[in-house]
Amino acid sequence: MITQLHILITYMCTMSCEHCFVCSSPQSKGTFTPSQITALLDQADALGTVDKIYFEGGEPFLFYPVLLNGIRQARSRGYSVGIVTNGYFATAEENARCFLEPFPGLGLADLSISDDVFHYEDREKNAARCAFRTAKEMGLPASILPLDPGASGPETRGSPREEKKGVVTGGGIMFRGRAAGRLSRYADAHDWQEFTTCPYEELKDPSRLHVDSYGNLQICQGISMGNIWEHPLEELVRNYSPSGHPICGPLLEGGPAQLARELDYTPPSTGVADACHLCYLARKSCREKFPGVLEPAQVYCDD
Ligand code: SF4
Repeated sequence: MITQLHILITYMCTMSCEHCFVCSSPQSKGTFTPSQITALLDQADALGTVDKIYFEGGEPFLFYPVLLNGIRQARSRGYSVGIVTNGYFATAEENARCFLEPFPGLGLADLSISDDVFHYEDREKNAARCAFRTAKEMGLPASILPLDPGASGPETRGSPREEKKGVVTGGGIMFRGRAAGRLSRYADAHDWQEFTTCPYEELKDPSRLHVDSYGNLQICQGISMGNIWEHPLEELVRNYSPSGHPICGPLLEGGPAQLARELDYTPPSTGVADACHLCYLARKSCREKFPGVLEPAQVYCDD
């Protein structure tokens, strides 16, 4: 049952992180308008099972008035609301307070702030920490979103390069999107046939979906259930057949290894970094064969 909708306010971001799995950058396109958010929330109301809306990206604070408008709309309809940000705006506490000023009155349930060595090489003093500290002082439900607490702990600390290496080899990265191209070479290589299950997503009965301004309703980044601007959310969810979906079906049957077989994809002889790496490479190899399914292009970056 779908209980969470994650609205990708924009694919644009202040950064172009190596580990980003939606390939965001300052050049990325695809941003919601307030009326599109209204239309999406109408569809969420009609579905009737959603109770939580997340606003994320890209970097949602880049389109600050649109973000505020969306939060107000969602809260007025009774949804619990969360935000994921990199906190770039907190260049000083005073600036953080300016950006966060309206939020204590909005009844946010969560303000997750990404703080890791890929976002910020300065691990002592950075905008994410300033945003977190200021948000806490203002009584907001802020939390730090690390990559993987186990993989980026004190034992991996050192130079930024060493810490990044520790995160990559320690299992703190999912090798999809830009991370597949930029970081997979630094991870241990595995025989592709090992990956017989999808480790992260509930493909059979998803509880959360991501949606972008183009209407792509994503079960996992780059795997679409359909387009909400063509068919309403309720219809797409009702008609979703996990075993009949051309990508989720094979993934459920035998994980990324089965997907690679069914897509006639030949994995690299040098091995793959993890299940997501194999899944991503197999899908990227044949995007043109599955229009409307292997969407959007933003997730299948060229680097
Ligand atoms: S294996 Fe594929 S579907 Fe599963 S979480 Fe990884 S990228 Fe997503």
